[in-house]
Amino acid sequence: MHDMVIRGGTVVDGSGGAPFAGDVAIDGGMITAVGIVVAKGREEIDATGLLVTPGFVDIHTHYDGQATWDPELGPSSWHGVTSIVMGNCGVGFAPARPDKHDWLIGLMEGVEDIPGTALAEGMTWGWESFPEYLDALEAMPRTIDIATQVPHGAVRAYVMGERGAANKPATPADIAAMASIVEHGLRAGALGFTTSRTVLHRAVDGNVVPGTYADRAELLGIGEGIARAGHGVFEMASDLNPCGEEFAWMKDLSIATGMPVSFALLQSPLDDEGWRDQLARTEAANAEGARVTAQVALRGTGVLLNWRGTAHPFITRASWVAIAALPWDEQLARLKDPAFKARLLADPAERPPIDNGLVDLLLHGWMLQFPLGDDPDYEPTPDMSLAAIAAREGRDAQEVAYDTMLADDGRGFIYLPILNYADGHLDHVLELLNHPATVVSLSDGGAHCGVICDAASPTFMLTHWVRDRKRPGKLSLQAAVKRQTADTAAMYGLGDRGMLRPGMLADINVIDFARLKLAKPYIAFDLPAGGKRLLQRASGYACTIKSGVVTFREGVATGARPGRLVRGPRGMAVSERLAAE
Ligand SMILES: [Zn+2]
Repeated sequence: MHDMVIRGGTVVDGSGGAPFAGDVAIDGGMITAVGIVVAKGREEIDATGLLVTPGFVDIHTHYDGQATWDPELGPSSWHGVTSIVMGNCGVGFAPARPDKHDWLIGLMEGVEDIPGTALAEGMTWGWESFPEYLDALEAMPRTIDIATQVPHGAVRAYVMGERGAANKPATPADIAAMASIVEHGLRAGALGFTTSRTVLHRAVDGNVVPGTYADRAELLGIGEGIARAGHGVFEMASDLNPCGEEFAWMKDLSIATGMPVSFALLQSPLDDEGWRDQLARTEAANAEGARVTAQVALRGTGVLLNWRGTAHPFITRASWVAIAALPWDEQLARLKDPAFKARLLADPAERPPIDNGLVDLLLHGWMLQFPLGDDPDYEPTPDMSLAAIAAREGRDAQEVAYDTMLADDGRGFIYLPILNYADGHLDHVLELLNHPATVVSLSDGGAHCGVICDAASPTFMLTHWVRDRKRPGKLSLQAAVKRQTADTAAMYGLGDRGMLRPGMLADINVIDFARLKLAKPYIAFDLPAGGKRLLQRASGYACTIKSGVVTFREGVATGARPGRLVRGPRGMAVSERLAAE
């Protein structure tokens, strides 16, 4: 008798091998058999006609604050994700001097658009050092497993104080102190070290993240701490500017530490073929013995524009500014008033004080703005843009934008894919997904609460890239599953999960693939202090199982809390396991 048997499903085991009909037996939270299972289970799940996959492993999230108060970690956990890695992009909440809590919150709020009021109310700050932060995370039972990384921004500010926050150069003593904190954070169980090297990431005070301009000595010096700890992915978001220098130190750091260095690779509208150059430089570095990995997103990285979101095209118009602070029901009444609408549309679109180069796309980039409705299409064709709709209907594009957001009682969305959509399609993403030096990433779960909800990416991977894509070029089911299970787990040394194999964690999704569907995004005000966030649900997950315990049935949480903090890499490396088979 087994604890549980998932019977008669189509097993997509995460290895990339062809799907097969089979059963999965679970005992003590682990998988004990895959194939034909004769013995009964105390609990039996009928998976006839359903897919059985490993739980998804999402390595790019920002739940650093939310994980201290929310055991469920939606929306990621609603999309079949059973393990997340947070602490990405150089921002996080440890180490933290007691008088720097507000500053760290301001950094997270600015960079990741997580409401500072929610973080201030939600976090209890029972820690100062990074290991103490891990202890606080570990004390809480949760729905999914979490793992984290040591963020450069917090470390630099901790060691260097105002000099660190102001991005002054680090002295050799500063570097040694930072490397020591990183080493001890990794030894205590962090899975990596992360940094931000993009001018787009700014704290609420307008300053870039500490470490943004860190020089080669600082980066390689911190790498010595990683090497001493013996493990640790080096993750970063970078403008890759200048590209040659960035790839030079990434290569040297990876070779010196023996660890993966991973950077975010997104197609820029300013240089739509630049990603090819980055990929070529990655291949060249790896040919010399480095392990440089490009983190890729599954769709256009953009913003969802909505009257109640963080941004919309009319945000600078005088008529909007006049009602911006009103309660929503009063705003909605005004927005529905034809006289108000006429006034607002006649207002000039003022440019905001901080112009990061993306303002034009927001204020009048109608050719790249698309309505996003009940059947959200994340690869819209040019004829679906607000500009095309306006031309077809003989209307003003800004009026189409206004009406699109006013639809559904003011809950309509406009999708503006800023990055990764320069060609008006996702063909290059498919090329990246098929490249061995890439890893699926950048869901940003828990972050960009007012503009993005890419935490739903694991569902999108299956619905879009395997089943629904209209343009030529899809992924096989087994490839799509492998990319967000075995591959992501392997990147972070989590050899105990990501495949359905005896001896591995029983982290499993049972999916009705024919029914699998993303719902329209929505805005909820359910963070602490009523903080707002964009959310997106999915249907078609018959159940999700974490360590042998059912955590979701048909999208409804069971309330079980089998998840915990993951400390350090574990299990056999995936490559070793596959070689041994
Ligand atoms: Zn990030």
